[in-house]
Formats: sequence, C-alpha cells, structure tokens
Amino acid sequence: MAKEYFDYKGQLSVAPPSFGGKKKSKQKLQISVNKRDEIINQIRKTKCWNCEQVSYHLTQLEVQDKNRTIMQELDKVLQGNVDEKEADFNNRNAILTQYKIIDDDLNILFKGKVAMQAC
Ligand SMILES: [Zn+2]
Repeated sequence: MAKEYFDYKGQLSVAPPSFGGKKKSKQKLQISVNKRDEIINQIRKTKCWNCEQVSYHLTQLEVQDKNRTIMQELDKVLQGNVDEKEADFNNRNAILTQYKIIDDDLNILFKGKVAMQAC
C-alpha cells in the first residue's frame, strides 16, 4: 500500500496529462485542469504528505476502514435488517393482510382463495 501511495504521490507532482487529439472544448478541459489542481492542493495539505511513518499510518487507516465495514455489517445483523428478502416478504404480507387476503397468521382468507382461482 505504501508503494502505491508513493506512485500516486509521483503522479501528483507531474503535469496533468496532455489534452490529447480529441476535439473537446478548451473551456471544459480547463475546468478539469483546475479541479485537478484543487484536489492536488487538498491532498498536499494532509498530515501524511511528508510523514516519515506514512507506511504505518496508511496501514492503520486500512485496518480502520476494514473494521468500520465489519462493524456496519454487524450492526445490520443486530438491527435485523440483514435479510432484505425477509423484510420484503413481511412487507408483502402486511399488504395482503390489510386487504384481507391473508390473516395475521398467514392463512389464506376467502378473498385470497378467490384470487388464487383467478390465476
Ligand atoms: Zn503519517
């Protein structure tokens, strides 16, 4: 990861890629160049730009990112939102119950039986 960072840092210090042969409006290209410069300036302001421990710090960030993802997954499980199909199933059943096609115990009522015959 640190090597990637240094390659990336190298990319930032070079001039933007040339405009190429395609006929794009110069104004649009200039906007892209400006945005690029703006981003490079922001990146250079980060604490680790000239940090000697960049390799260690980037690893820390990576670990933190992974942990955050795992935490989010765990929270989803704990909140019961993990099974979207189950949620979908429950939503459909709620609608069917509302229209008295099934009852609360998911038994098919008369309207439901008629609907099944019609299919
Ligand atoms: Zn650092």
